[in-house]
Amino acid sequence: MPSIDAIPVTSTHLAFDDTDSPDGMCTTYLAALVIDALRGWDLIGLPRLVRLNPNVPWKTRGNAAVSLSVGVGSGPRRLCGEVDGCAIEAYERGAPAEPREVLDVAARVLEANAEFSCENTNPGIVCCNRRPPQRLYWSAVRDVVALSDVEGILEKNDAVWKKYKNGRGVIGASAAMSWRPRDRTWEVISYRDAGRIGTQRDIDSASVLRMDKETLHTFNNYDYETRHVAIAPASPCPVLFGIRGDSADELVRARDMIRGEEPASWILFMTNQGTDDHIVHRRVGDLRANLSAKMAVEVVGEPRTIEGGHVVVRVSDGREIDAMFYEPSGSLTRAARALVPRDRIVVFGSYRETPRAVNVEKMRVVGMQRVIGKSRNPVCPDCGKSMGSLGCGQGYRCKRCGRRASEAEAETSEVPRAIRGGWHEPPVASRRHLYKPVRRMPNGNINKLLIRN
Ligand SMILES: [Zn+2]
Repeated sequence: MPSIDAIPVTSTHLAFDDTDSPDGMCTTYLAALVIDALRGWDLIGLPRLVRLNPNVPWKTRGNAAVSLSVGVGSGPRRLCGEVDGCAIEAYERGAPAEPREVLDVAARVLEANAEFSCENTNPGIVCCNRRPPQRLYWSAVRDVVALSDVEGILEKNDAVWKKYKNGRGVIGASAAMSWRPRDRTWEVISYRDAGRIGTQRDIDSASVLRMDKETLHTFNNYDYETRHVAIAPASPCPVLFGIRGDSADELVRARDMIRGEEPASWILFMTNQGTDDHIVHRRVGDLRANLSAKMAVEVVGEPRTIEGGHVVVRVSDGREIDAMFYEPSGSLTRAARALVPRDRIVVFGSYRETPRAVNVEKMRVVGMQRVIGKSRNPVCPDCGKSMGSLGCGQGYRCKRCGRRASEAEAETSEVPRAIRGGWHEPPVASRRHLYKPVRRMPNGNINKLLIRN
């Protein structure tokens, strides 16, 4: 089996971004069409689906860009897709092509299919024989990058590119091309027959559950908290379903286990989904716009439930900020409600300027405060009877003899906490594409079978 991690050294890299809209095209589907149109060349390595900063204000849907490499293939090859009944194979190595020729073929496909009518869709397409420096990827996944800076890099790399409308897609395309994976997962995506796009998807949920149980390295398939099939999108896009996982080979088998309507094509992508690449370690005082961060903080206020069932917890690492837990985060938000002052937690989330807060994506409880509560009213030393409360904070009085006792004289004991230590994460349906599931975290070593309940 050829190594699918290998980054081809010599091939021609093509990338595009920002071709979709909230209710139509999907950039990964465009990839299937482009790969099909580029059959005059060989595919070198797997196509890559790269998600960029989820906090940029102008993203279309999932902020996805696609990068692929073509040329004259050599060495071992593997099946990585099927378009209109024809197998797509990826070679392990290759020799480069002429970037201008590749760009022209791919641009024609993009022009015929991108959703130009959507105001927020600003496609870009880039082709180059040298990947741009990887700092471009890290800037684009964690921050905001200027088009002029990107074009400067592309010029230095002898790249050719085309931009449409405001051309912002060139930024994501170039960033996707510059990705050198430190961590990576895979996603196999099946696409619908063109005649069915926009209609109700027919996916047998029992087959999704069976696939989830019978595969070891897939994740986010089924939401056991909300009983929801998570592999199918809700939008009217061409995607039938996408299965994510840590084993490319297992994903190809998992795809075959799904019953329902017959897909027209499928592609296996290497991706940065599920890697937390968007997260940086920060202190509260260093947060700024568009950033997603991981912060070790202490709870300093009682959790407050606000309208809509969201929970706000004041936290601090010397500087204070509100940590926001949203109602759709289900068990994560319920856990937040059980926090008490002086609990120590690590929160992962994105910074929001107005009102200033961190929207929490997941949390690890690392230190729990002991909570002491009243277990019994004081007993009168004269009568041996339990004293009655005079109201909150007012102390106690014996009903028989009138003797009084202070609040502090009540019997106390440690109250069991309604939250457990360790990781707390939201249900599958409310996770972002870059969200790293706890089972993939280095210290989240939880067996898939145990997570189910
Ligand atoms: Zn008494």
